[in-house]
Amino acid sequence: MITKQFKKSFTQQEAIPEDGVNSALEVLRSGKLHRYNTQVDEISETAQFEREYANYQGARYCVAVTSGGQSLQIALRAVGVKSGDKILANAYTLAPVPGAIHAAGALPVFVEIADDWLTDIDDLRNKALKSGAKFFMLSHMRGHIADMGAICEICEEFDITLIEDCAHTMGAMWKGRKSGNFGKVACFSTQTYKHMNSGEGEILTTDIDEIAARAVILSGSYMLFERHGAVPSREVFQNISLETPNCSARLDNLRAAILRSQLSILDHNIQRWNQRYRIIENGLRKTPWVRVVERAQHEAFVGSSIQFHVEFQTTENIRVLIDACQCRGVEIKWFGSEDPVGFTSRYDSWQYLGDIPKLPKTLSVLSTTCDIRVPLTFDEHDCENIAQIICEEAERVAVLVE
Ligand SMILES: *Cc1c(COP(=O)(O)O)cnc(C)c1O
Repeated sequence: MITKQFKKSFTQQEAIPEDGVNSALEVLRSGKLHRYNTQVDEISETAQFEREYANYQGARYCVAVTSGGQSLQIALRAVGVKSGDKILANAYTLAPVPGAIHAAGALPVFVEIADDWLTDIDDLRNKALKSGAKFFMLSHMRGHIADMGAICEICEEFDITLIEDCAHTMGAMWKGRKSGNFGKVACFSTQTYKHMNSGEGEILTTDIDEIAARAVILSGSYMLFERHGAVPSREVFQNISLETPNCSARLDNLRAAILRSQLSILDHNIQRWNQRYRIIENGLRKTPWVRVVERAQHEAFVGSSIQFHVEFQTTENIRVLIDACQCRGVEIKWFGSEDPVGFTSRYDSWQYLGDIPKLPKTLSVLSTTCDIRVPLTFDEHDCENIAQIICEEAERVAVLVE
């Protein structure tokens, strides 16, 4: 039997659009890379981008920041998190989330996830009650949006401030409302593997004057905040500017220029991601050893990655499948591996947090969870091939070991 080999890279993104390259060159030629290096009445590339993103998101304010983790930390501080505060967080997330909580001096209280990777609502309620935490940092991990109606109700009932980590839900919606518009503040990563690519970077949005003002000072505006170009009025800063630390995390005009060119094609790209996602999803349905989880109708997600469960008897057999796919060029991330590899997303990898109470449900769900990236450099045929290779190898492993 001839076996197909997959040759493309799972981490290769598309080129920056040509108009983005040109505006980046203009910024370079001007020498004005620092966002506050402006004349009176001049709007920096960064401020321009913030206005455009705020408009896209339907948020009043937007603050662009150097990295995802830094922006999450700024978001926590901006909503008033103090050292020693407890922060609820879903246990399935990426390392910058616990890192940001730790950096803010706060303590995470992890909440279980369910089989569909969504926040377990009963566990959230239970932990909200028992911990007394007044903050919830919710990661819409890998683009899966939990029951936001139930989550908002719990937050209201227990007076919890919701912070949304929308690293994989930029442009996504839940019941017609944009992801990021449910909490007091939201963060959208623009790190290379997310929905817009500036290498590193992140966008913070909020509707609340004080949070926006604090985020601007935290991001490192010095007393130049009036040149920011997209912020609340001067009065709002009065009590904030001298009481808020500078965490030096300003985005620069070069990256803003690159991002502006991608924002205008974001919705188009979302359609392209979802086309690819559906092809892989449908392809994976062809083997009984792989289980895809049906997405809820009301969740308008962005299929920039796809998750599925492998239903072998033992996790060792999942390892055999992962290795077999790897040999044929299909790179699968398996969250059940005992040793953390690549980007870590399991709470037991974060030992600096001290003793974390066991989360048996989350560990059990992750033990069969696989994940593949869907970069836009894959075409539809590539997506068919990927699904086919996974199905073939799953059948082969099943014959050998099941
Ligand atoms: C990518 C990502 C972030 C931000 O990561 P940085 O590398 O710090 O930009 C935050 N949360 C989740 C869930 C992510 O996937």
